[in-house]
Amino acid sequence: MSVPDDNSIPREIDQHLATFGKEPWEVNYDLYGYCAICNSRVDEFNYCGCGGAAD
Ligand SMILES: [Zn+2]
Repeated sequence: MSVPDDNSIPREIDQHLATFGKEPWEVNYDLYGYCAICNSRVDEFNYCGCGGAAD
């Protein structure tokens, strides 16, 4: 019986890793701005989930 490692998501099926090249918990949103439309934090590309973007 194998012991699971720290990363519980196999890299082969980790869509976030495949899409962004990193795990969701590795993104530090505090480094980035806020969306001008909904005032949510944006990602490192300054894009928001609502379709807006930071200034
Ligand atoms: Zn937004």
